[in-house]
Amino acid sequence: MSVTETAPQMVESIDGHVRAFLQVQNGCDHRCTFCIIPYGRGNSRSVPMGAVVEQARKLAAQGYREMVLTGVDATSYGADLPGEPTLGLLAKTLLKQVPEIARLRLSSIDSIEVDRHLLDLIADEPRFMPHLHLSLQHGDNLILKRMKRRHSGDDALAFMRKARRLRPDMAFGADFIAGFPTETEEHFQNTVRLAEEAEIAMLHVFPYSPRPGTPAARMPQLDRALVKERARRLRDAGERLKTNHLDGLVGTTQSVLTERGENGHTENFAAVATPGLEPGHFVSAHITAHDGKRLQAAFANA
Ligand code: SF4
Repeated sequence: MSVTETAPQMVESIDGHVRAFLQVQNGCDHRCTFCIIPYGRGNSRSVPMGAVVEQARKLAAQGYREMVLTGVDATSYGADLPGEPTLGLLAKTLLKQVPEIARLRLSSIDSIEVDRHLLDLIADEPRFMPHLHLSLQHGDNLILKRMKRRHSGDDALAFMRKARRLRPDMAFGADFIAGFPTETEEHFQNTVRLAEEAEIAMLHVFPYSPRPGTPAARMPQLDRALVKERARRLRDAGERLKTNHLDGLVGTTQSVLTERGENGHTENFAAVATPGLEPGHFVSAHITAHDGKRLQAAFANA
């Protein structure tokens, strides 16, 4: 039986037959002013914990060693379920009840909604991977307000510092929008500064694009050329940050899970070239160099 046949509503995709993505939540109760998602997908709905555990067991039995919990607003997981379990509690429960899961990741989270169980996992659980992708969107407080986000730039920075105190090898990725309506050069620079101060290793940069019917589409728009130029500059900053991150891994030894296409990932989700290695194995990699995108390594127990 293929994985998609077992629970089509929950298994989002299978990545190289090593990593499985479990969609545990859909929809969103928030109304960020730029976002069309809640109009299309409705309010937040969560998959009950028992169903997630059952699905994870099936995937583990099929040999998947790494699982990624996904959701449109994953950190709101459980608010609609009896007893209101949180995303952190779900992750803890999965790791306890499905010991075959060697690596557990989260797709994208809202740092302001992180619960205490998730902080426990960051601090103490080696099977919970030290990589978080955050939905930050901007670094300037006025723009964050105009976006109707629920965090400030300082909140985001404080969370990343706290997570790194708990787990020093924690790496971060983040989504940012460049050229939001009314964004000045100073506002834009606050985004660059936040990314740099937090040493975010992977920036996903989206040039702002108005979605019809959203409040942001009715705000004063920036010239398209300026939006694109700021997105390019933010991506350039992201390239520099990624290079710094990869530089810092050279000379270290990392556990790598090999995937299809002679690729693999470290625990903190840096890509590693794995020439000649079969997918689906854990190998110890001594990192020797990188090409700006992937690490190169000497493998000890391949
Ligand atoms: S950006 Fe995320 S949190 Fe905001 S409305 Fe869209 S889905 Fe919800």
